[in-house]
Amino acid sequence: MSQEFENLVAVVTGGASGIGAAIAQRLHEGGASVAVLDLQPDGADAAHFAVQANVADTASVRAAIAAVGEKFGRIDIVINNAGIGAQGSIADNDDDEWARVLNINVTGIARVTTAALPWLQKSPSAAIVNTSSIAATAGLPQRALYTASKGAVLSLTRAMAADHLREGIRVNCVNPGTADTPWVGRLLSSAADPAAERAALNARQPHGRLVTAGEVADAVAYLANPRSGSTTGTSIAVDGGMQNLRLRPE
Ligand code: NAD
Repeated sequence: MSQEFENLVAVVTGGASGIGAAIAQRLHEGGASVAVLDLQPDGADAAHFAVQANVADTASVRAAIAAVGEKFGRIDIVINNAGIGAQGSIADNDDDEWARVLNINVTGIARVTTAALPWLQKSPSAAIVNTSSIAATAGLPQRALYTASKGAVLSLTRAMAADHLREGIRVNCVNPGTADTPWVGRLLSSAADPAAERAALNARQPHGRLVTAGEVADAVAYLANPRSGSTTGTSIAVDGGMQNLRLRPE
């Protein structure tokens, strides 16, 4: 039996850590050749083609996508996963920080996808998956700027899906709940009481624990799979029920 991603080439931004690394591994296991585009590509698994790239910089993105095209001669799947966090209410980040985070989390998707578009347009099974967040669909405290960026990712996903449907390119996103990645590890270690903070985050998820990066990767693999040909312009929540469920306390 052929593998689901056999002969396909996938680009995963932010693929050297956390959710992106799990996605890169999952696509590789499914038979894809994977290129990891990351600010810090040294962390990428040796199985992948790792390219240093900053999604906030057009020249860097263009060079990285050109390197992938040269190496593999095709690009079929683009996973726009690179992103950074921001904490606080709207009053807590200055204009420069707003511009910086939106540039990476939102414009970065436009940049990477635009650079890869000529390749995707030639692919018989082109798919883009963007990493949004539970923050796009639920109001979380102290995450104003980050939420604005991830809400934009969700809306942008639909707009991209509409624009590129007739070119045969599907576009979807995943909305992870709080996931156990190095990012969240950093947040926890900076908290006054990391154990209490972890317990509070676990308790916020109806299923009582953090999401794993592998669970997000499996949802991404479903959306990227050529067999998901009728799935475009949508989002999959991988959040332990956080968005849609209202359980009574035990
Ligand atoms: P992470 O910090 O573990 O990994 C992020 C990776 O992106 C790193 O390898 C980093 O070097 C890379 N990166 C950062 N800025 C970059 C840039 N400008 N150009 C290229 N690469 C860059 O984070 P993670 O937790 O795996 O998060 C990945 C994505 O998932 C992000 O978009 C994040 O918003 C989203 N997300 C995370 C969670 C969570 O709880 N961890 C929840 C929902 C959504």
